[in-house]
Amino acid sequence: MSRWVLAWLAWGVAQPLSDSLAQVRQLQREAQQLCRFAGRGHGDTGAKQALRYLQRRFRQLGYAPQIDTFWVQVHRIRRIRVQVREAEDGWNAWRVGVDYLPAADAPSLSGEWPVDTLPRQGCAWWVSPETPLREALKHAQKAGVTLLLLPKERLMGSTAQTAAPLPILYVQANRARPTALRLHLKAQTLSTPAFNLSALRTGSRADSAWVVGAHYDHLGRMGSLTFWGANDNASGIAMLLALAAQLRKEEPPYSVWFVAFGAEELGLMGSQDWVQAPPYPLRQLRGMINLDLMGFGEKGVAVVGAADQPAFWKRLDSVRVALGWDPPLLLRPNAPNSDHFPFTQRGVPAVFFYLQGGPGYYHDGYDRPETLTWAAAVPFLRWVRAVLYSP
Ligand SMILES: [Zn+2]
Repeated sequence: MSRWVLAWLAWGVAQPLSDSLAQVRQLQREAQQLCRFAGRGHGDTGAKQALRYLQRRFRQLGYAPQIDTFWVQVHRIRRIRVQVREAEDGWNAWRVGVDYLPAADAPSLSGEWPVDTLPRQGCAWWVSPETPLREALKHAQKAGVTLLLLPKERLMGSTAQTAAPLPILYVQANRARPTALRLHLKAQTLSTPAFNLSALRTGSRADSAWVVGAHYDHLGRMGSLTFWGANDNASGIAMLLALAAQLRKEEPPYSVWFVAFGAEELGLMGSQDWVQAPPYPLRQLRGMINLDLMGFGEKGVAVVGAADQPAFWKRLDSVRVALGWDPPLLLRPNAPNSDHFPFTQRGVPAVFFYLQGGPGYYHDGYDRPETLTWAAAVPFLRWVRAVLYSP
């Protein structure tokens, strides 16, 4: 048995509870700090502030982080205000993120319109939930509708790179249909730099390396609404920093690239950029581990890419078995849903880990740091660290 195997097995023995608590407190502090940057959006100041913070943190940990820049186009909703008239009442304000949420690609528009259940010229069309979106858009354009109101059970933010011809407002499903609506929406499409941060821990064998990655960007702000992105993905960055801090004090057997990706929410753009011009030969990578949605874990561990990379998964999983940690596991096929994916496209074995549980806040104003439980953080970190040591 190699000394590396012995090293990670030794690390697998239970840590004292006080160490675990201190570790969770540190993760929570990092997540809170990352949530102070106005939702870490591109085309806002948030992503840039987060990047600067990470640069400072990696330097404090003794790394010399490299920044690489790429350009992205993003459509941003700067200001939005909605008022509605319900029956005989006067005008009431609707709260963005609570009563409604605009589609990310909504163009600028201001005015007042009657709300109609049929698509008519110059109206705000209240679309029935049974109508498929594609069909609604076709009817709306033909009739000359001004904007679409779409009742939805769950309001979920996203990103856009260009403006759509018509704004869509998703309306919380239990809101009554108003008779008229006023909208003031100011949006802008812009080109802006985005950044990846890569920090290298050189191992005893520098000709072979792991990549551990997490995206630091999120959706930013939309009018008065902030998408905090605590679980998505301040939590993953907190884990990344914890691993980087740990490995700084040791000499891992293989090199490790810690990468904080930008512009994941715009379509995995940071990780695509990284694999296109990697700072290290991709064929010398042992694998890539992507950490995204790490703040819970009461319901176990999900692994995207485990189901169709059996040999790689076996390598990871045998380490977990050796550590004697037995959480519920959900093994999923690979999918382009986070930053592991561009690596798999280039032939690098890669998985996307997320920890399941929690209240299910996602891409909304409720994903705040105080909701995180870190239920599986300590054993999960122990597992990832042991993987980096595994032969
Ligand atoms: Zn994410």
